[in-house]
Amino acid sequence: MTDGQTLLAVFVLLYLIECLRLVPATAWIAAGTGKSGWSSLRPWTRLQIGSGSPLLLSPLPPMQAHALALPWVFVPDQNSLNVRLTDSMSVSLAWDQLTPRAEETLLHLDSATRVRLPTKALAELWQQRLTEWRGLTSEQRRSAFLKLARTTLDTQSASKSAAATSKLTGSMRRCATIHFMWCFGIISVLYHRFGDSLPVLVAAGVLLLLQFIQSWLFLRSTRKSSLIIPHRRWRALGIAFLPQLAMRAFDIVNLTTDAEPPHPLAWRGLLDDKRWLEYARQFWRESRYVPGWPQNESLPLEAEALQKFFRHEGIPEEEYDPPATAKLPTCPRCGAEYQCGNNTCPDCGGVELRQPTA
Ligand SMILES: [Zn+2]
Repeated sequence: MTDGQTLLAVFVLLYLIECLRLVPATAWIAAGTGKSGWSSLRPWTRLQIGSGSPLLLSPLPPMQAHALALPWVFVPDQNSLNVRLTDSMSVSLAWDQLTPRAEETLLHLDSATRVRLPTKALAELWQQRLTEWRGLTSEQRRSAFLKLARTTLDTQSASKSAAATSKLTGSMRRCATIHFMWCFGIISVLYHRFGDSLPVLVAAGVLLLLQFIQSWLFLRSTRKSSLIIPHRRWRALGIAFLPQLAMRAFDIVNLTTDAEPPHPLAWRGLLDDKRWLEYARQFWRESRYVPGWPQNESLPLEAEALQKFFRHEGIPEEEYDPPATAKLPTCPRCGAEYQCGNNTCPDCGGVELRQPTA
């Protein structure tokens, strides 16, 4: 490799590192530009670092805005609090064992359990909320959760805030797209053709100019908004001089928010309808079909909140919970089919199978 190629490889690596984010393992990110047609991204949950997982934001131009959603991490139960650690793992903590304490973005729940939240403000909010819930009766906790579920499932406000997020960083993303093409396209071609020469030096000067513009756009878009961006001026300085920071400056603006993130299903209208329904079914199955479901008289709390939401949105039950058509006993949670005579699904912690109707 020539010096120029090595430098380019280093830039690509630095850029990809800049696209990586450590997020809660349960987090969802939507990437898009307009009022609909957004796609969803999920972290690599197999890799757990400091109670979070890495997520690669869409790296290729045209640059897309990102918005964050979080499923219900804390769901109160009769005598305990259910904490969702990853998509497939939850723990149950007794209320009297609970000692919530926020430390930056981490929320320590007892001596052993901790949860990463997207922001420090949210970790502090949940510390306060859980302390409050601990002192309530189980009926009060239930209604507090249902109220919270309603706010986080507001589809209109979720779409509006994603569109606002995208609008706020429109010029920064356009500048980043040009900068990306310039850095990885034009300069490489010029270097390949002319080597160390004046045209390459001029092109590098243009790159620096784009970085200065990006830095100014960053300061402008964060000046008026209510966003509290830590070390804002230092970041602007970094954006002015480091290409990888300049190309991803809009992420800082998009993903720094003190607002309570919506539930991923609040992205109805933002995501593709078919995809959204798939996610709706998945959330429904996981909350509805828990061990003991055929005998339970009432729905689990999370399923109750979802059912209310689906009714409010006018989605019939057969859409989000399609009736079984298999001729064999089927697990309603994961969809696995079993031979006759089986009653529970070992993969789903002993969820009772749905027997075929004769
Ligand atoms: Zn199963």
